[in-house]
Amino acid sequence: MGLLEKAKTADVKVLVETLSFKQKVDRSIELISEALKVYGDGLVVANSLGKDSVAVWDLAKKVSPKIRGFIVTTRFQHKETIEFMLEEVKRYPELKIYKNDADIPEGLYRTDPNRCCDLLKVEPTSRAIREMEATCWVTGLRCTEGRTRTDYKEVEERDKGLLKLNPILIWKEREVWQYLAVYSVRVNPIYQEGYRSLDCFTCTQITTDENERAGRWVGTSKCGGECGIHTRPLKNVDGDGI
Ligand code: SF4
Repeated sequence: MGLLEKAKTADVKVLVETLSFKQKVDRSIELISEALKVYGDGLVVANSLGKDSVAVWDLAKKVSPKIRGFIVTTRFQHKETIEFMLEEVKRYPELKIYKNDADIPEGLYRTDPNRCCDLLKVEPTSRAIREMEATCWVTGLRCTEGRTRTDYKEVEERDKGLLKLNPILIWKEREVWQYLAVYSVRVNPIYQEGYRSLDCFTCTQITTDENERAGRWVGTSKCGGECGIHTRPLKNVDGDGI
């Protein structure tokens, strides 16, 4: 049985605490390599331009420079994030930008953040998956990142016809920064301000809370939660959710 198969049931909590930094990096690379052998050009990396995404993108590029990816952006991104995005797509033309520019009600991020994320984040992510004909999408999810991320597996098959690979699921926040420093990976300069988790400026704050995602959607029921791309079906959009 290959690692890709074993990872579907591996105990991630044990792996988080027992593997060394190097063992985690090697495991991530092996997961992406195995998935590339199975899914070929159908393997696509989702890159949010946050620290976890740029680590995963760098790992994927180590496996094969040909691996494609996509960025989902919104009208509410920090100017530093937009500048960083434009630099990244210039450097990696195989990285495509997806955005939903449709009219939405004023202040929807305050009145109904779930609907806002559905329109501005989930819709373009789903469109990217379909248009790029992805059969395996690679994410930067980490199980120690927050309360909503503890139950994921490194390999998931909840969306029919679309494998989800979370190759750095077992990395700690410190190990992500360690990787970025050791391998001199360029990061979004907005981190200089003190953010630990990034998203639209309308819904992201700098906090001193222990929880890494505590600055997301502060003051709403969605606080520290999810935008929906990891909880909704992306390929079978009429499904019940994943
Ligand atoms: S993070 Fe906020 S502004 Fe961005 S899509 Fe979600 S609710 Fe809308």
